[in-house]
Amino acid sequence: MEDIDWTKLGFKYLDADYNVRCYYRNGEWGELEISSLNQINIHMAATSLHYGQEAFEGLKAFKGKDGKIRIFRMDENAKRMQDSAGGILMANIPVDKFMDAVRKAVTMNKRFVPPYDSGAALYIRPLLIGTGPQIGVNPAEEYLFLVFVMPVGPYFPEGFKPTDLVIMREFDRAAPQGTGKYKVGGNYAASMYEGKKAKEGGFSAVLYLDSKEKKYIDECGPANFFGIKNNTYITPLSDSILPSITNKSLIVLAKEMGLKIERRKVPYEELAEFDEVGACGTAAVISPIKGVYDNDNDKWFKYGDEPGKWSTKLYNKIRAIQYGDEPDTHGWVEIIE
Ligand SMILES: *Cc1c(COP(=O)(O)O)cnc(C)c1O
Repeated sequence: MEDIDWTKLGFKYLDADYNVRCYYRNGEWGELEISSLNQINIHMAATSLHYGQEAFEGLKAFKGKDGKIRIFRMDENAKRMQDSAGGILMANIPVDKFMDAVRKAVTMNKRFVPPYDSGAALYIRPLLIGTGPQIGVNPAEEYLFLVFVMPVGPYFPEGFKPTDLVIMREFDRAAPQGTGKYKVGGNYAASMYEGKKAKEGGFSAVLYLDSKEKKYIDECGPANFFGIKNNTYITPLSDSILPSITNKSLIVLAKEMGLKIERRKVPYEELAEFDEVGACGTAAVISPIKGVYDNDNDKWFKYGDEPGKWSTKLYNKIRAIQYGDEPDTHGWVEIIE
């Protein structure tokens, strides 16, 4: 193969050698299959294509100084995919099968795991789609689960740098009791228009307020929101937010660092009170936020041009665990030999 320049990787699709596939037919899952094709062959009336029966996951594997490959909290991704499948009536991929497929995909594509020094990682994308035909609105009877991987560069190639968010009340990502809590493609389709608008305005993402009352902070683009004030890590409680595994991990680490934790409704007005604000998710771990612009009221909330003290500590801590620089005292990491 051509040599990969590990320093020039972004977050873009690249072919690896193999992907892992598993078919659900006649009411049961088959065996894991290995493929070297980057295409799938499905029925044109597949429910994933017409009615959005599709869920995905995103996680990473990291190469340590010791040369070992570590996968971060994949059991959590497996459980979350079950929630997503249940939420839109797809066949449930068993947790063990999910994890075996991820292990296989990483092991078979070992040469795509970037070296420790690059700060890059192997991105793992599990996908579950309805493949069986329906023309009436009904769940499919056949499904495909697949896992593919690709090397991705560090999210902050120029260092850990804060960006701005924008509030635009005329857009909703998810309904209050809809599918916002599932990792399904439909939520992404629903947020692309305003996401692009935000980027064109120089913002990294949309900060959504709750769809019902527009009073509380909800999801932050494709990431969870947190704010820090008075030694307290505060993150919104909402039925339309995707439960981020990064956020869940940060909460544990923040508590160990001596911060108090509050998971509750976060009123819009509280944006004026935070010392630090961030977005969190697998892609960046933490994206520090330097400002939130309320587009409807032409009002700025500012948090400083450099990442905050706690955001920096939390970012460094979680990365150290992922790369194996610090001991994994929580059982979050699985080492692939
Ligand atoms: C995937 C995702 C996140 C982040 O979840 P992690 O498990 O931390 O990667 C947050 N919000 C949305 C909408 C997502 O799809």
